[in-house]
Amino acid sequence: MNEELLEETRTLDFLDLDALLTDEERGVRDDTRRFVQERLKPNIQEWWERAIFPQEIVPEMGSLGLLGMHLNGYGCAGKSAVTYGLSCAELEAGDSGLRTFVSVQGSLTMSAIHKFGSEEQKQEWLPRMARGEAIGCFGLTEPEAGSDPASMKTFARRDGSDWVLNGRKRWIGMGSIADIAVVWAQTGDGIRGFLVPTSTPGFSATDILHKVSMRASVQCELALEDCRLPAEAMLPEAKGLRGPFSCLNEARYGIIWGAMGAARDCYECALDYSKNRIQFGKPIASFQLTQQKLVNMMLEINKGMMLALHLGRMKDDGRLRAEQISVGKLNNVREAIKIAREARTILGGNGVTLEYPVMRHANNLESVLTYEGTSEIHTLILGNALTGILAFR
Ligand SMILES: Cc1cc2nc3c(=O)[nH]c(=O)nc-3n(C[C@H](O)[C@H](O)[C@H](O)COP(=O)(O)OP(=O)(O)OC[C@H]3O[C@@H](n4cnc5c(N)ncnc54)[C@H](O)[C@@H]3O)c2cc1C
Repeated sequence: MNEELLEETRTLDFLDLDALLTDEERGVRDDTRRFVQERLKPNIQEWWERAIFPQEIVPEMGSLGLLGMHLNGYGCAGKSAVTYGLSCAELEAGDSGLRTFVSVQGSLTMSAIHKFGSEEQKQEWLPRMARGEAIGCFGLTEPEAGSDPASMKTFARRDGSDWVLNGRKRWIGMGSIADIAVVWAQTGDGIRGFLVPTSTPGFSATDILHKVSMRASVQCELALEDCRLPAEAMLPEAKGLRGPFSCLNEARYGIIWGAMGAARDCYECALDYSKNRIQFGKPIASFQLTQQKLVNMMLEINKGMMLALHLGRMKDDGRLRAEQISVGKLNNVREAIKIAREARTILGGNGVTLEYPVMRHANNLESVLTYEGTSEIHTLILGNALTGILAFR
């Protein structure tokens, strides 16, 4: 092993997680890392500052197999859950906004179509979405229904064989650039999912402005005003909240890895800075308090990655339960935010600028803490698993 690689192993992959991966897993991870290094890192500061989602790189992500990566058939890459997770970590080491795009496209929208769609719906949308030629969004949250999606008001009523949708959705990732929206709505028969082409008369999407988190990403308010759809627009196999929840579990799984990617980038930056910043005549890395911070970061990143890998192997074995995904989401996002904040202290005043990635990651992670189930909701899911008592209703 050359000196540079040895150094990277010592500092970034302290417990040699690399040795637990297959050649294919390492290969895809390295390809994603290279893509992030070459296409994302040089531009992300500007994209984030100017609130730009770089739509031109979507087809590039498609050709890397990142879109619907863990789905089989229909032009999807059919990779393992672990391979997908490793890619999420690399993307989020670049920026949470890019991993969010891959989650919304693959884990939420494509997986809804893949799990619950008709053969015609799958053929129509999945190959194009896998190539990055069509963009999808997933509309569950509403202005007055966030953690409690059962209280949604969006309604689909039957009119002859058609469906007519009315309602509002909020915080919908990629809404204004999407070609197709998966919209969850109440019907006379419980909550059902609908494929709504965004060109449907009555559909509109307005970007949410003034975000101080996830700026290199698009979130929207959707309005559905008498959107008329044919009978075949309904996802035939999704009945009740089980449908959207199973897609959320896919996205939560990616976050378990992604959050550790953001944390790793913060740690790497703080470690490097601490060795080069001189105060009181020495690098600040030589002070015990700085070393303690770096050690705590390294411990949590290595534990978090081991947890992600363990959960990923369970997912690939088909035995990962929803509450086990909550363990990963709750722990890894919570620890990633702590690491980002601690890294910022090592950078001192320079840490509050966009010249370094740390504050950008910290701000992005505030969104990650809230979406796909807030940390409070995941705590209560686990509380229920431990006690048998549901405390959030
Ligand atoms: C950047 C971003 C992207 C998003 N992308 C999407 C998307 O693509 N599609 C989509 O459908 N949604 C999306 N969301 C919405 C996200 O899923 C919701 O924000 C989340 O579910 C929380 O809902 P809320 O914001 O309405 O908060 P609320 O549900 O109003 O919660 C506010 C606070 O109250 C707490 N709380 C609520 N109920 C309880 C309880 N029973 N016990 C204890 N505490 C409770 C919460 O934990 C939280 O701290 C996105 C959000 C963000 C910020």
